[in-house]
Amino acid sequence: KLYNQVQEAKGNIRVFCRCRPMSKEEVSSGYATVVDFEGARDGDLGLLTSGSSKRSFRFDRVFTPRDDQVDVFADASPLVVSVLDGYNVCIFAYGQTGTGKTFTMEGTEQNRGVNYRTLEELFKVAREKREAFSYNITVSVLEVYNEQIRDLLATSPSSKNLKVRQASEGAHHVPGIVEARVENIKEVWDVLQVGSNARVVGSNNVNEHSSRSHCMLCIMVRAKNLVNGECTNSKLWLVDLAGSERLAKTDVQGERLKEAQNINRSLSALGDVISALANKSSHIPYRNSKLTHLLQDSLGGDSKVLMLVQISPSENDYGETLSSLNFATRVR
Ligand code: ADP
Ligand code: MG
Repeated sequence: KLYNQVQEAKGNIRVFCRCRPMSKEEVSSGYATVVDFEGARDGDLGLLTSGSSKRSFRFDRVFTPRDDQVDVFADASPLVVSVLDGYNVCIFAYGQTGTGKTFTMEGTEQNRGVNYRTLEELFKVAREKREAFSYNITVSVLEVYNEQIRDLLATSPSSKNLKVRQASEGAHHVPGIVEARVENIKEVWDVLQVGSNARVVGSNNVNEHSSRSHCMLCIMVRAKNLVNGECTNSKLWLVDLAGSERLAKTDVQGERLKEAQNINRSLSALGDVISALANKSSHIPYRNSKLTHLLQDSLGGDSKVLMLVQISPSENDYGETLSSLNFATRVR
C-alpha cells in the first residue's frame, strides 16, 4: 500500500543506493570511509569531500553496509510481484566494478541475490495469492558485449549476435533465444548457474570479462485468468550492468578501447532513456544501444523501473562514487 502511494507521487522510476562494506584490503591499507549514512533511514546519503564539507544525495532508499540481501529484497519485492499482475518491470544494478552489482543481483549460494529471490517470490505469490490465475514462467539469460547479444542458455555456438525484433507495439523479442520453462523454485538456481557459467566461456579472465558486459535475466510471465480466460504477457528484466568506471585514455587501446567505448555508449544511452522518461519527453531514444532496445518494453509506458546504484565506501573510490551518484540524480 505504501508502495502505491509513493508510486503515484513520483511516477514509475525508483532509485535505491547500496553501499558495500569496506574490503579487507581497504581496511588494511588504512583507507577512510567517505560515505555518511546518518540520514540513511530517510533516503539521504552524504559523500564527504576534503575538509569537512559534505555533498548530499537523496534516494528512495539507502542500504548501508549493514543491510543484507533480505533487506534489499524486501524493498524490491512489491515491484517484482507486479509482473504477475501484468506490469513490465526492470531492475538494474549500476556502478563501478567491485561495488557489489553481481553480489546484489546474483549473490552467492549462501547469500542469494535479487534474481533468485525474485523467482522464489513469484512462485510463492502465484501459488498462495493468485488462485484465479494460472501462470507459465520462462527465463532467458543474455549477455550484451560490444553491442552484440549472446544467449547464455544456448547450447549451440551460433547464438551469437542475436537481433531485437518488434512483433507488435510493446512486444520486442529476440528471435531464436532460449526460453527455459521453470515450474518451481528447485529448477531456478540451476538455470541461473548455467547462464552465469556461460558468461565466462571464451574469456581468459572471468571477472574482467563480466565487468565489461551487461548480464541480463529476462523472466517472462504468461498469465491466464481462469475466470474469464483472458491472457496477459509481461516481462521482468533483471540486469547486472557492465562496470561504469572510466578508464584512463592512455591505458586503453585496440580491443579494450572499443569495449570501453561500447560500455560508455550503452550506459549513457540508458541514462538518456531513463532521464527522458523521468522528464516525460516526447521522444525516448531507445534505439541508441542494444541494452536500451532490449529493455524498451520494460522501461517506458506503465512499466516499473528500479535502479540500484552500487557504491564503495572507500576514499580511494571517491571519484567513481561521485560519478555514480551523479548518474543517479539525473533521473530524480
Ligand atoms: P561488481 O559486480 O559490482 O563488480 P561484486 O558483486 O563482484 O562487484 O562485489 C565485489 C566484492 O565485494 C565481492 O567479493 C563481493 O562478495 C563483495 N561484496 C559486495 N557487496 C557486498 C555486501 N553488501 N556485503 C558483503 N560483501 C559484498
Ligand atoms: Mg560483477
